[in-house]
Amino acid sequence: MIAVALVIGAVIGSFLNVVIVRLPKDESLVSRRSSCRACGTMIRWFDNIPILSFIWLRGRCRQCGASIAWRYPVVEGLTAVLFLLAAWRIGWRAELAGAWILLAALVTISFIDLEHQIIPDAITLPGIVAGFVLSFISPSVTWLDALLGILVGGGIPFLVIVVSPGGMGGGDMKLGAMLGAFLGYKLALVAIFSGVVLGGLVAGVLLATGLRGRRDPIPFGPFLAGGGVVALLFGEGCIRWYLAAFTG
Ligand SMILES: [Zn+2]
Repeated sequence: MIAVALVIGAVIGSFLNVVIVRLPKDESLVSRRSSCRACGTMIRWFDNIPILSFIWLRGRCRQCGASIAWRYPVVEGLTAVLFLLAAWRIGWRAELAGAWILLAALVTISFIDLEHQIIPDAITLPGIVAGFVLSFISPSVTWLDALLGILVGGGIPFLVIVVSPGGMGGGDMKLGAMLGAFLGYKLALVAIFSGVVLGGLVAGVLLATGLRGRRDPIPFGPFLAGGGVVALLFGEGCIRWYLAAFTG
């Protein structure tokens, strides 16, 4: 079962790489086979096996020797590990499919935001709808939960944008709403809180070490997505801990 989750995750991760490269360029996701970005040679199936191909090609194109971006094995490995963690936390139930859909969306959004500083509506808007529709068959999130989640998850970034412009963008708002649709309003709060803490810590380290200057933009999307992963996998525990700590 561990191997099954890892293999499905790596294969999905391989497809997410295609989305990460092609979606910001408005290229078709399915019509064209993968080719080397440097020499244009079609990548044969045995050179396109998630993670393994990168290792035995030593990170280089077989034809021209151009280096293959580290993002490819990283996205495949990360998706595999996240899919496994979700299977471990949720079990092999129908809910797991919804969790995998959310995780795939979060990985894709994070890497597109890191490279292009945009969070594509093409993922978040269908994501909001998908999360809301799934709530009707989900045993843990009711449709009302999901609806409140959309309002809370989108509303908090909206308030931040109004109060202090420049900190967050409309993409963060739609990402927050998508998290709320999938997770419900309680876990959406956990996601946003975790995202802010995570973002604050990493931004602090980047500024303190001089890796980033005060004026360099640090996209918030990957942290919000990371907060969403924390909420999905460990959110119930966070809520229990919080209630126990503050209500005695
Ligand atoms: Zn090449």
